[in-house]
Amino acid sequence: MSFPNLRLRRLRKTGKIRELLEEVRLSPKDLICPIFVQENLNSRVQGESMPGMDRLPLRDVVDEVNSIAELKIPAIMVFGMPSRKDDKGTSAFAQDGIVQRAISEIRKNLGNEIAVITDVCLCQYTTAGHCGLVKGDKIDNDSSLETLTKVAVSQAQSGADVVSPSAMMDGQVKAIRQRLDDAGFSDVVIMSHSAKHRSSLYSPFKDMAHSAPKFGDRKTYQLPYTNPKEAMREVETDIAEGVDIVMIKPALPYLDLIAMTREKFNVPISAYSVSGEYALVKAAAMKGWIDEKEVTLEILTAIKRAGADMIVTYFSKSAAKTLNEK
Ligand SMILES: [Zn+2]
Repeated sequence: MSFPNLRLRRLRKTGKIRELLEEVRLSPKDLICPIFVQENLNSRVQGESMPGMDRLPLRDVVDEVNSIAELKIPAIMVFGMPSRKDDKGTSAFAQDGIVQRAISEIRKNLGNEIAVITDVCLCQYTTAGHCGLVKGDKIDNDSSLETLTKVAVSQAQSGADVVSPSAMMDGQVKAIRQRLDDAGFSDVVIMSHSAKHRSSLYSPFKDMAHSAPKFGDRKTYQLPYTNPKEAMREVETDIAEGVDIVMIKPALPYLDLIAMTREKFNVPISAYSVSGEYALVKAAAMKGWIDEKEVTLEILTAIKRAGADMIVTYFSKSAAKTLNEK
């Protein structure tokens, strides 16, 4: 078969023709903006390795979230930095915990103007800095599950729409779903960090959120980046446990896994473009080596093209601004 008159360049002739033919359209509505709230902080502190991202005091949270909502971004993901850590991570599920208070303030002032997603993990809250509780020299799965369910319920009580377990403990979705339902929160969505990899791209976040482990590493619970089949088993398991939205994390070096998940499963997919992905672009842009705006749109569009329905990204505000001006 031949197409003697076919010229694909016809479809690229003018800006308007190209717009008409656009197959993947990135919108602010695709984005989830992370925010960091620190207990007992008086004024904003900029993250050293995440320029443009601040740790916020509680009193600045509503204004910040309002500015995010005004950019037509539909959701935030809240991370908390407590002033008190212990070996049980109790400040993660305290009703007056920093995240719980932040959510209540957002709800009280902004109603349903923005969807509130919370991180369900223990690393910011425990002295050991691991995502689960420590017994001896091990991360204990089942006692961690018990604590994670308390965290999720306390966040739901404060008004979270979506809880996002990121501890990579086996059975975390099932345990949280059960406990949320028992507590009367059957309408709270679970977005699980289903395939969260042991990645070196988390370093800027760990500096920002003071969440680096005090001993060992996270290799006994996070996925190795060498194992795509194992990643798909994690996704499959979360679906079997009743997850509402699965997540692949990080995003850019894992586009194949996003595409694979899209192909294999009929489930909403979020992708988490992590702090190291942000820092790489920021550092190169600050050197004048790349165009930050253009590169950001190219990367986020690629993540969507791979099959993500939504993207958690530290570029949410800047990308939304660019997209709204288009
Ligand atoms: Zn964690």
